[in-house]
Amino acid sequence: MTVSAVIAIDGPAAAGKGTLARRLAEYYGFAYLDTGLLYRAVGRRLLDRGDDPGHVEAATEAARSLAPEALENPALRNDETASAASQVAVIPQVREALLQFQQRFAASPPGDAPGAVIDGRDIGTVVCPGTPYKLFVTASIEERAERRLKELRERGIESIHGRVLQEMKDRDARDSQRDIAPLAKSEDALLIDTTEMDPEKVFSVALDHLSTQGLAPPQSRP
Ligand code: C5P
Repeated sequence: MTVSAVIAIDGPAAAGKGTLARRLAEYYGFAYLDTGLLYRAVGRRLLDRGDDPGHVEAATEAARSLAPEALENPALRNDETASAASQVAVIPQVREALLQFQQRFAASPPGDAPGAVIDGRDIGTVVCPGTPYKLFVTASIEERAERRLKELRERGIESIHGRVLQEMKDRDARDSQRDIAPLAKSEDALLIDTTEMDPEKVFSVALDHLSTQGLAPPQSRP
């Protein structure tokens, strides 16, 4: 079904997926979809309405009626929303509704882009299992918590290291242990451990792999 080229990037929170995805999208001229935002928008809507993020009917309704503007809400970035996102993400009906959105994006990327970069937890395993361009980006939990703390600090939010670390562990556990579409590396994905790498190095390792897999550099495409 997919006619455009799709680069699938999976991995846990704060491993460097987003930075890599944006760079690859810019380099290849592809459209970029951060699928975490979809789950966050559903979680946020429930919080805003005072509903429990585990409420199946309310979450399903929110996922089915998700409007693209909801993805622009700055509150999607906070940790309360992240936690609600990982709770709605275990609901099969929510995943089903969001799956269709993601597969449409992959098949016809907006702006007539020749391809898409999609990042999340289950892109290489469930959303676009047929693509040959798969990356699994990870880093140690300590390093990820440090990066998250730094990001929060830069946004003027002071947080406690132990709390950020615990929140990340809880979310990793929920994402990896759920029954449907858990966070997992697809067998044919390249594993990139970014613990000791800067973003430049991560980008060059990814480019080497994609070119080995046959993805042509942008200038050589018609
Ligand atoms: O990537 P981000 O941290 O924004 O994702 C928020 C949450 O959304 C994740 O912890 C995960 O529970 C869920 N998610 C998912 N599948 C995806 C993307 C995100 O279950 N493809």
